[in-house]
Amino acid sequence: MQTAIEYKCTVCGATGVKLWRQYQTFLEHINLLCGPCALNDQKLFGDTIIDTEGKILTNYGIRTDSIGWLVPAIPDDTGTFWGYLSVPSHLVDWWRRLPLRDTSIYDHEESFDKIMPFVVGFTAACLAVVYVVLFCIINKVGI
Ligand SMILES: [Zn+2]
Repeated sequence: MQTAIEYKCTVCGATGVKLWRQYQTFLEHINLLCGPCALNDQKLFGDTIIDTEGKILTNYGIRTDSIGWLVPAIPDDTGTFWGYLSVPSHLVDWWRRLPLRDTSIYDHEESFDKIMPFVVGFTAACLAVVYVVLFCIINKVGI
């Protein structure tokens, strides 16, 4: 979705993820926060886990998508945000489908796992060549 506001965590710079914002704050004072940064911001360390729908379980046993004083940041196309209770349902769905974390980071890790055997194999081959060359030199064998 194209948004008029840059949809980016103001703390860690994550994009393409669910973001939260302060509730009832003037637009110029709004900081967008991703899930992990929202938990930090609200001092919810340790036990609080955000599920894939962007909900947490509060100490009172309530499942909610607001994190402390922060609510889901759902931009409208005029450069501001939908009020917490007036968001159109298709945009709620859009927000729920956003990942919690920047998955491109995990993609990089995956591709690293794929090239790792080749890196190890290449290094082993180089060491073998060096070993053979040293062996020949030490034993004064002509190559
Ligand atoms: Zn963040």
